[in-house]
Amino acid sequence: ATPTSIMVGTGRAAELGVLFRRGEALQTLRDVEVVALDKTGTLTEGRPELTDLTPAPGFAADEVLALVAAVEARSEHPIAQAILRAAEVKGLRIGAVEGFEAVPGYGVAARVDGRRVEVGADRYMVRLGHDLGAFGAEAARLGAEARTPLYAAVDGRLAAVIAVADPIKATTPEAIRALHDMGLRVAMITGDNRATAEAVARRLGIDEVVPEVLPEGKVQALAKLRQGGRRVAFVGDGINDAPALAEADVGLAIGTGTDVAIESAEVVLMGGDLRGVVNAIALSRATIRNIR
Ligand code: ADP
Ligand code: MG
Repeated sequence: ATPTSIMVGTGRAAELGVLFRRGEALQTLRDVEVVALDKTGTLTEGRPELTDLTPAPGFAADEVLALVAAVEARSEHPIAQAILRAAEVKGLRIGAVEGFEAVPGYGVAARVDGRRVEVGADRYMVRLGHDLGAFGAEAARLGAEARTPLYAAVDGRLAAVIAVADPIKATTPEAIRALHDMGLRVAMITGDNRATAEAVARRLGIDEVVPEVLPEGKVQALAKLRQGGRRVAFVGDGINDAPALAEADVGLAIGTGTDVAIESAEVVLMGGDLRGVVNAIALSRATIRNIR
C-alpha cells in the first residue's frame, strides 16, 4: 500500500469512528480470518443485573443477599455492582466487613459481622472445598438461559446460588451477521463458565468459544485460536484484554473501554460497539484493493 492510500483509508475510517493508531493495521486487517471477541463489555453491555437468588435450606434470600453485598462492596467487578444495586433496591443493611480478599477469575471473600462469606464461580467453591451437588441442576438451568451462576457460602456451607445477566448490546447481532457475510469466523473468549458462554454463542451464531479463561490466560486462549497459522483479530475492552490486544495479528479496542486496552490496540472503535470492526475490515479490504 502506498502512504497516500493508507492516509486516505485511515482518514475515511476516522469519519466512521474507527481510529487507526497504526496505519499498517489497515493492511494486516485485510488478511484476518478469525475475529475473536471478548464477551463482557465487548459483545455485552458490561453491566450485569442480578436476576436470581435461590437460598439453600436454612438461609433466607435477603439474609444471603445482604451478606454477599457487604463483601462485594469492596470489589470493583461489574458483578459486584449488580449485587450491590440489588441490595440497595431492597434497602438491606450492609454489615461490617473485615479481611476482604479477591481471587481474580474466581471470586471474593470476607468476614461480615463475624461470619465468613465467600462468593464466586463454581471453580471458587470447588477450590474452597464446598460441595455444589445440591445446586447443580439450578446452575445448569441458569447457564442454559445465558445467565452467569454464582455461589455464596456462609461459614463453610453453601448458602445460595445467584445469577447475573449481562445484556447483549443491541448492535452485536447485526455486526456478527456482517462478519459472517464477509466470510470471517467469529470466536469468543471469556472468563465465564462453559454453559453460559455456549448459550450466548448459540444465540449469536458465534462459531468458536474459549470459556473459563482466567484473567491472565487470554493470550493463551488467543494462541489456541491462532493454531494452524490462522490470522486472528482480537476485540476487547478490559485491563485483562491488554496483553491479547498487543499479541493478536490486529488488536481492536472498544473506545469506551479501559485506557490500558486502548493503549495496547492498533485500532480504536470510537462508536463503542462491534459495527466498528465491520467498518474497519471493510475499509481495509477496499483500500488494499484500490492500490493493488
Ligand atoms: P469476566 O470478565 O468474563 O467476568 P472474570 O475473570 O472477571 O471474567 O471473572 C470470571 C468469573 O469469576 C466470573 O464470571 C464470576 O463467576 C467470578 N468472579 C470474579 N469476580 C467476582 C466477584 N467480585 N463476585 C463474584 N464472582 C466473581
Ligand atoms: Mg470485557
